[in-house]
Amino acid sequence: MHEAAARPASGIRREGIAPAGFPESRPPPMTTPTTQKDPWQEMLKRFNEAARRLDLDEGVWKILSEADLELKVSIPVVMDNGKVEVFTGYRVQHSRAMGPCKGGIRYDLGVNIAEVKALAAWMTWKCAVVNLPFGGAKGGVICDPSKLSMRELEVLTRRYTAAISDIIGPDRDVPAPDVGTNDQIMAWVMDTYSMRKHETAAAVVTGKPLLLGGSRGRADATGRGIFDILQHAAHRFRLDLRTARVVIQGFGNVGGTAARYFHEAGIKVVGLSDVKGAIYNPNGIDVHRVREHVTKNRFLAGFPGAESIDAKDLLTLPCEVLVPAAVENQITEQNAARIQAKLIIEGANGPTTDEADKILEGKGVVVVPDILANAGGVTVSYFEWVQDRAGFFWPESEVNQRLDEVMHRSFAEVAEMAEKKKVSLRIGAYMLAVERVAQVYKLRGIYA
Ligand code: NAD
Repeated sequence: MHEAAARPASGIRREGIAPAGFPESRPPPMTTPTTQKDPWQEMLKRFNEAARRLDLDEGVWKILSEADLELKVSIPVVMDNGKVEVFTGYRVQHSRAMGPCKGGIRYDLGVNIAEVKALAAWMTWKCAVVNLPFGGAKGGVICDPSKLSMRELEVLTRRYTAAISDIIGPDRDVPAPDVGTNDQIMAWVMDTYSMRKHETAAAVVTGKPLLLGGSRGRADATGRGIFDILQHAAHRFRLDLRTARVVIQGFGNVGGTAARYFHEAGIKVVGLSDVKGAIYNPNGIDVHRVREHVTKNRFLAGFPGAESIDAKDLLTLPCEVLVPAAVENQITEQNAARIQAKLIIEGANGPTTDEADKILEGKGVVVVPDILANAGGVTVSYFEWVQDRAGFFWPESEVNQRLDEVMHRSFAEVAEMAEKKKVSLRIGAYMLAVERVAQVYKLRGIYA
């Protein structure tokens, strides 16, 4: 049984209350697991293929097939009704070879150890693809933040931070927001850690509010990076963006921001979805108006400028570009053959299963993998960490210019690897990442 299903929902349900940081405009995170596929196994399939093609050292292969550290914590919280609820949280550090670990914290009912492990490993590969001095980690708490009051959310976050505070730190492991968490939650993590260490540790988390040492440009970074990648991929694979139709799954931080960038560049967005449903207009959707609608109504449903469609039909709509930007395992062997897009840019982590990859490759669909396509977020998180440590902050134009350079260079390196080794962009990206991590293991040796 899925772990989320085993947890009592009573006591954490406070219908109608939107905690601070989760204003009515923000859609809640998903509340059900999306598939039975084990994301850790999906990650391993790709890693093993890259390792085989690289003829990877057997010892390094074994090390990277496991996480360095898996921590499971119980988080007791006195709820607003006076009762104690015990939540389960995780922090996984997949690889510490490249530097301090980096990776978000997810608050969602679907969180489970296989997912957190996979997300941690994807962070190892992602940081290596864009050449950041970080290893990979991820954390998660099984909860539905949209059902918690602001006080409950703060207490949960502080107790979770206390429980993992011996393994995080600016030189150890630096969390960031992910699905269901935001800058306010990062502020509480930073404060709790700082109080315990008797210091101001701004660099212990990224994605913080600007006043606490956040970076300009961080909120838009993942969406902006996807826009960068779209332009490079369109150029390389000769796709005319003036006539291209784009469909985006997920209208949160990643999908919503990418949609805004596309729309402002005059690229036609024809389909959008969130956890409650999907909308479609073959003539193009006014993304600014959608954002206004979502600010007022929280969800896409009822947007007057498009027709409501069944969410399961979104991914197979007629379009040239598809951006899955919600959760894992959305493009599967069940729908891959029906996908009409020529180019898929993975905004979410792990949205495409291994079987689906093979079907898409057979159809000639180009997939820009998550570990490259959505690396804009961790890249600007790295910039934030650098700025915090220097105590010197950059203007947004400098952040964006450096981000664009990283995305441009990384796309070119992945494309070159894929072409040289005659593999997909995904396996090319894994090969680039695994090779870099393996070189570091070789130089450092194995501590005994
Ligand atoms: P978010 O919580 O801001 O938004 C998620 C969106 O997806 C919401 O619109 C939600 O309604 C929708 N959604 C959830 N389940 C869905 C489903 N089954 N079908 C359709 N829509 C669904 O989260 P986010 O930060 O935008 O993250 C989205 C994905 O991108 C995740 O996989 C995350 O790990 C990945 N990611 C995020 C960042 C970042 O900087 N935020 C960086 C890299 C990768």
